[in-house]
Amino acid sequence: MDHIKIFSPATVANVSCGFDVLGFCLDTIGDEMIIKKTVQKGIIISKIEGYNLPFEVKKNVAGVSALAIYNDAKPDFGFDIEIYKNIKPGSGVGSSSASAAGSVFAINELLGRPYNKTQLTKFAMKGEALASNCEHADNLAPALFGGFTLVKNLSPLQIVQLPTPNELFAVVIHPQIEIKTSESRAILPKEVSLNNAITQWANVGSLVHALHTEDYKLISESLNDVIVEPHRSKLIPYFSDVKQTAINSGALGTGISGSGPSIFSLCKGIDSANKVMDAIKNLYSKTEIAFEMYVSKINTEGIKIL
Ligand code: ADP
Repeated sequence: MDHIKIFSPATVANVSCGFDVLGFCLDTIGDEMIIKKTVQKGIIISKIEGYNLPFEVKKNVAGVSALAIYNDAKPDFGFDIEIYKNIKPGSGVGSSSASAAGSVFAINELLGRPYNKTQLTKFAMKGEALASNCEHADNLAPALFGGFTLVKNLSPLQIVQLPTPNELFAVVIHPQIEIKTSESRAILPKEVSLNNAITQWANVGSLVHALHTEDYKLISESLNDVIVEPHRSKLIPYFSDVKQTAINSGALGTGISGSGPSIFSLCKGIDSANKVMDAIKNLYSKTEIAFEMYVSKINTEGIKIL
């Protein structure tokens, strides 16, 4: 095999109560990438379509993560990366992660799969660090492993794959505004109260249990964030209206996707998801802000070879 074409999916990090540790993978939105072996050693990015991103390998997350795996594997050939971007950078659904995870996944396939998914996540974290100034894996893990994931530990990296209840669907609205990740980090408190911490870890524990037992009622009761959402939601216009509308229309829960501005809802069944999407669309159409919406089954596979 001398080239590979992949679909690298968008992902939702945090999932309300699991700030920096939980994430899940989407199915209907993602980038495509083509990676080719080259006689010439090294990494090049020869094509980027969709959004204006740097071609310079060290300034593009796909290039930085590719270099990380390349420098470890030391093959006697190189790789040429083409990126067809559909996920808008800075949308909060893991645009940078899709690129960072995609290049390492594809290179691993072309090398004959010498690395496991945890090792691939580690290489991809080098790329992700370029976008966010720190290494994190809450978007990368669901992109590479699929389904729901929990980043148990960063050093040493430990990822726990969680089960995905079959009837779970996500609805995502992406208001077309820009929120800088640095701004949405800076707004967070440095300390949390013991009461809030107790509520939050009870929710994370019960959400994990609910995913294992396919308990949709408990999923709903657990999708509650008392630590991050009260602060970050101020940066997202009409967040509480969207949340209220989604819940009133039958969503199990609604929260900020990653650092925003995208907002996700989880729903039981496609009919419920479509109803929630229509209600949110109706609400947001009345505002002055342009938006995009997606409904997606949870993608249990992660990155796919096309
Ligand atoms: P998201 O949560 O949607 O990934 P981030 O703010 O984490 O958004 O990442 C977007 C930032 O990463 C932008 O500044 C963008 O220029 C930079 N970047 C570099 N390479 C890429 C890439 N291949 N795909 C997306 N973003 C990239």
